[in-house]
Amino acid sequence: MRKTVKIPLSYQALYERAYAILESVTPIKADCGRLCGKACCKVEEDITGMYLFPEENVMFRDLPSYASLYDTDFEYDYGRYADLFTCDGSCERHRRPLACRIFPLLPYCKEGEEPRVIMDPRGRGICPLARTLSVDELDPEFVAAVEKVTRLIMKNPQVRKFVYELSKQVDMCL
Ligand code: SF4
Ligand code: SF4
Repeated sequence: MRKTVKIPLSYQALYERAYAILESVTPIKADCGRLCGKACCKVEEDITGMYLFPEENVMFRDLPSYASLYDTDFEYDYGRYADLFTCDGSCERHRRPLACRIFPLLPYCKEGEEPRVIMDPRGRGICPLARTLSVDELDPEFVAAVEKVTRLIMKNPQVRKFVYELSKQVDMCL
């Protein structure tokens, strides 16, 4: 009998799949941007933005004019540093990075444990949902989509290391 060998997804295929799962879900059924004036998309004077997941820059080879990529000192694996994605406060929705699609949720995992999805504690300062609601109070379809994406991306060893390190970072905010 022929054995089926599972070929790991390329990074492009991985993120295309993750983006598709999250394409049409939102944290709550209503437009939460009306609660806060789209606070998570506001541009501050300092460079603020969101980390791209490992190799997610494959999705931004042709960088849109409203976006920039920066190096960071966030080392999630030996010699591997996260890129920072910034925008001018607007974007083509279908091209927003993974961190924007899952905000205010975050995959959280300690080595040897099962990954879970938490409310991103770094979002409390800007996001009224992160400040006042629990994960269970967000739209269940959104939460289920973020959980599905978390299971998908955690199959990739580099993403696992990234999530482990990010989880240590957010522990300081819990
Ligand atoms: S800051 Fe929170 S409430 Fe406001 S648009 Fe972003 S996710 Fe929605
Ligand atoms: S890329 Fe889009 S969703 Fe993400 S912060 Fe910028 S405007 Fe908001």
